[in-house]
Amino acid sequence: MSNPIYLDHHATTPVDPRVIDAMLPTFQTHYANPSSVSHEMGLDAALIVEDATLQIANALHCLPQEIVFTSGATESNNLAIAGFCFPLAPAFASPNRCQPAPHLITAASEHPSVLDSVEKLKRQGWSVTRLPIIPFPSDRAGLIEIEQFSAAIRPETKFVSIMMANNEIGVIQPIAEIARICRQRNIVLHTDATQAVGKIPVDVVSLDVDLLSFTAHKFYGPKGVGGLFVKRVGRTIELESQIVGGGHQRNLRSGTLNVSGIVGMATALGIAIEEIANGEITRQAELRDRLYRQLTKRLGTLPINGADWRTSLQVGHPLLRLASNLNCQFPGCDQDDIMAAVPELNLSGGSACAAVEKRPGHVLTALGLDAQQARSSLRIGLGRSNTTEQVDWAATQLSAAVQKLRGN
Ligand code: PMP
Repeated sequence: MSNPIYLDHHATTPVDPRVIDAMLPTFQTHYANPSSVSHEMGLDAALIVEDATLQIANALHCLPQEIVFTSGATESNNLAIAGFCFPLAPAFASPNRCQPAPHLITAASEHPSVLDSVEKLKRQGWSVTRLPIIPFPSDRAGLIEIEQFSAAIRPETKFVSIMMANNEIGVIQPIAEIARICRQRNIVLHTDATQAVGKIPVDVVSLDVDLLSFTAHKFYGPKGVGGLFVKRVGRTIELESQIVGGGHQRNLRSGTLNVSGIVGMATALGIAIEEIANGEITRQAELRDRLYRQLTKRLGTLPINGADWRTSLQVGHPLLRLASNLNCQFPGCDQDDIMAAVPELNLSGGSACAAVEKRPGHVLTALGLDAQQARSSLRIGLGRSNTTEQVDWAATQLSAAVQKLRGN
């Protein structure tokens, strides 16, 4: 086997051919602007968007009116955080000097689109708690401690943003439990579910979150389209729009709707949910186990970064970690040297965003890894197209490269 093998599905996924088929008519025949309600073709386009929105809403268990389309999860996270918090920022809200600054809680392992949005709010007068994650080594490494979260809440805490699944170490935070605490204290909860939607069942009603971000390109849909769930049933979350213009999408996000992207996202999500129902999570979990077993058999101990899926299964928490994620250290080696030695394997030393800046990933740093441990780490993101044969071949190639680098 010499074809390249794609093992970087946390960065992005290929577009499913069925998604492309569903999108094609929106380029060729149904290309009208869905806001052009003065003619038949515009009305048709509006109906197509309506249908796709309903499909997405059904998949997430919410109402179509609770979905805002965006250009992806970066924008969804910006809209959720700035959209809710900006109007309350002391720098802009009518100043009452006697009142303490509004407070928000996030975690050290969040995506940069969350952390940078929070930094901006800090400059505008918000008070911020960045919760640590449970450090390595621990069976629950990467998770936040619920007691620590509760203890961080203050009377002036107004907003919480904690991601559902991590893009580097795949750990799944206890969002429903966090939501329960937020409800009791009347705090708005946002979760960045970018790595969760399409990979595990996501139901906004049982999770009871207020705001939830997602993006199509992580579940075999096109790039450049995503969404934000904004709760309107039971309680209504008010957001200030970040992109203004024609007042599209109930004034929450202006701009001509990306009809092709929305149709692609709806189709992709429908397929992803079908795949989950057909056992894809178990299949990927078995592939990951097989890969890790083969690697450790040949290379010895490879410390796992993040919650250990093997012990989490034993203690009855099978969903502490995405089935598709393997992130571990290869002691004695540098990630760049390993990746250079196996160019046929498309894997990563960390998130694509951190890779551009060439700095140690903030997630592994938050996990407490030293520079050497972080530099020896690889992230493997399995996906729908990966087979047993590919995993076996990847294990052979990786083991041989690491053995050579170690000089044995
Ligand atoms: N949040 C997480 C957890 C992600 O993994 C990513 C993508 N790397 C994003 C947000 C940003 O998504 P997008 O590429 O759609 O802007």
